[in-house]
Amino acid sequence: MLIDSHCHLDFPDFAPERDAVVARARAAGVMRMITISTRIDKFAEISTLAEAYPDVFCTVGDHPEHANEGAEATLDRLTTLAQHPKCVGIGETGLDYHHDKVPRDTAERVFRTHIAAARQTGLPVVVHARDADADVAAILADEMGKGPFKGLLHCFTSSMALAEAALSLGLYISFSGIVTFKNASEIRDVARAVPLDKLLVETDAPFLAPVPHRGGRNEPAYVAATAEFIAGLKGVSIADLAAATSANVLRLFDKMSRPDSAREDAA
Ligand SMILES: [Zn+2]
Ligand SMILES: [Zn+2]
Repeated sequence: MLIDSHCHLDFPDFAPERDAVVARARAAGVMRMITISTRIDKFAEISTLAEAYPDVFCTVGDHPEHANEGAEATLDRLTTLAQHPKCVGIGETGLDYHHDKVPRDTAERVFRTHIAAARQTGLPVVVHARDADADVAAILADEMGKGPFKGLLHCFTSSMALAEAALSLGLYISFSGIVTFKNASEIRDVARAVPLDKLLVETDAPFLAPVPHRGGRNEPAYVAATAEFIAGLKGVSIADLAAATSANVLRLFDKMSRPDSAREDAA
C-alpha cells in the first residue's frame, strides 16, 4: 500500500481525465491521495473534488506564492473550513524565496497564521520551503515554542540543516520525484539520513514526475517510482518502505480514514 501525501488533483492538467488518473493510482496500489490546497478561495472546489472519491482527501490553505491574493487566510477562515470532513491538513504554506512573489513580511504572517490553525485544529501543517531555510527553521522553532503542532516539510529540496531542525521539532519530511533526478545528490543524502518513521513520499503532481517518467506530466500513480527509488537508497524492500511511509501518513494525518475502515466500505 502506498499513499500520495501531496498532489494537486484540482489543477486543470487533470480535468479531462481525473477519474482515469485516480483509477490508475488505485491500480498502482495508491490507497490514499491528499490533494493539497494552494488557494483558500478555491476551497469549495477542492473539497467537492475530495467528496467525489472515497480515497481522496484535501487540505485548506494558501500557497506562499498566493499568500497575498484574494482575501487573506485568517485563523478563523482556516479553522472553519478545516472542519470539512474530508479536510485533513492545513496548507500548503511556508516561504518561497526562489519565486519571491509575495512581500516577505506578508508571507511570514500568513505562514504563522497557518501554523496557528494547525495548532488549534490538531491537523498537520504542510510546509513548502524553497531557498528560505534559515527563516523557515527559525519560524518553526519559534512557533513550536508557543505550543505544539504537527506537520511536515513537503517536496524536500533544502539543506541537511533544515531537515535536522525539522526532525528535532518532531516534524516529518516528504520527498518527491526530485530525489530521483540525476543532480539531486544532496537531497539523496538527506533521504538516507531521515529515519524511516519520519519519512513520507509524494508526487506534487502534476509537477516533478520521477524518473523514468521525468519530463512528462506527473500523476499519483507515479509515487510508486519514488518509493521504489528511496527503498533502494535506504536498503530496504519496497514493501517495507511502502508500509512505513503509509503508516507515517496515517499517523500524521490522523483525521483521514484508514483504508480498512468501515467508513470506506459504506462509501
Ligand atoms: Zn509546494
Ligand atoms: Zn504542492
